[in-house]
Amino acid sequence: MISAVMPTYARADLAFERGEGAYLFTAGGDRYLDFCAGIAVDCLGHAHPHLVDALTTQAGKLWHTSNIFRIPGQERLAERLVANTFADTVFFCNSGAEAVECGLKAARGYFDAVGAPERYRVICAENGFHGRTLATIAAGGQKKLLNGFAPAMDGFDHVGFGNLNETRAAITDQTAALLIEPVQGEGGILPAQEDYLHGLREIADEYGLLLFFDEVQCGMGRTGKLFAHEWAGVTPDIMAVAKGIGGGFPVGACLTTEAAAKGMGVGAHGSTYGGNPLAMAVANAVLDVMLEPGFMERVQKTGAELVTRLETIVEKYPKLLKGVRGRGLMIGLMCQDDPKPLVLKLRENRLLSVGAANNVIRLLPPLIIEEQHIDEAMTIIDSSCAQLSGGA
Ligand SMILES: *Cc1c(COP(=O)(O)O)cnc(C)c1O
Repeated sequence: MISAVMPTYARADLAFERGEGAYLFTAGGDRYLDFCAGIAVDCLGHAHPHLVDALTTQAGKLWHTSNIFRIPGQERLAERLVANTFADTVFFCNSGAEAVECGLKAARGYFDAVGAPERYRVICAENGFHGRTLATIAAGGQKKLLNGFAPAMDGFDHVGFGNLNETRAAITDQTAALLIEPVQGEGGILPAQEDYLHGLREIADEYGLLLFFDEVQCGMGRTGKLFAHEWAGVTPDIMAVAKGIGGGFPVGACLTTEAAAKGMGVGAHGSTYGGNPLAMAVANAVLDVMLEPGFMERVQKTGAELVTRLETIVEKYPKLLKGVRGRGLMIGLMCQDDPKPLVLKLRENRLLSVGAANNVIRLLPPLIIEEQHIDEAMTIIDSSCAQLSGGA
């Protein structure tokens, strides 16, 4: 008999009752160090006092009114995002896939508005991930996402991630945009090289295409900058954001330049819940913390230390581990083989991580972790590797 909850997930037989900072607790009181953070969502850890206060204060005042009315929290958050990014305008939604969908509509809408509606196709990267809706699985392009749900939505072409020649070769007079993740997350923590991002910007400018970055996973401080593309000094025309922006409350956002929003006038798009007062109160609180001086520098420093310490473990267990990659606190531990046994062993030893494609274990701790959490994680990773190696 089918379970009451639709069985779409391979869930661990483990549930948590509460969280505090970098820790999760089961109802039985077992404590886990959370280096999964809801897959890069709980960026400020669990039950952060400033977020709890923002949410509960707002909960006592007003939850939802509809986008029929002005929502001051939206105006404030949009202005702050605009002030801190390339963007001129922001649409609020509830998830990453919705943020990507909005960006895809913006790209089509732009070319329609400039009198070139035949330009609707988007060139995406292989090994990418953009969500689970019909449009975003087509954008992701991977068989494992598309299988069983044919026909794939039309309008997406795929080229090698990092391959500028293939990107150029794929451009036709129907191409509207280039869509990539500046750091592929689900694909195994694969950072785009800086010259690749520069090259994409050049190609977009040369052909009059829109450059669209999906920063749903790598954005919001994850790499030690508010957005990962800042490392390369390259700006997109459109950007999808979600995961960390709500710190655990469902929030998504699509940011664009003024030009790229040409097709997004009144009536072009909408969302019932998108940007409601509860969501905006929390997202503004997340930004309060992230925009504090020194926050990003701390993420960079903590991330660099975590990578250095992981490298020593990689050296110690060459049969199990191959290397470390990533930036800030978006870290991939590359395994020699299927990472599942190590993920399970880490969990058994009370450290939560999450697998990714290409034999990678993702370490995505809350951005607020400190030295002691790194020490604790290292001890667990070391002993878990030792246990899997049958001693050492
Ligand atoms: C998680 C993710 C998405 C999808 O976000 P949802 O909130 O699950 O819809 C899209 N793009 C990237 C890069 C992601 O990591």
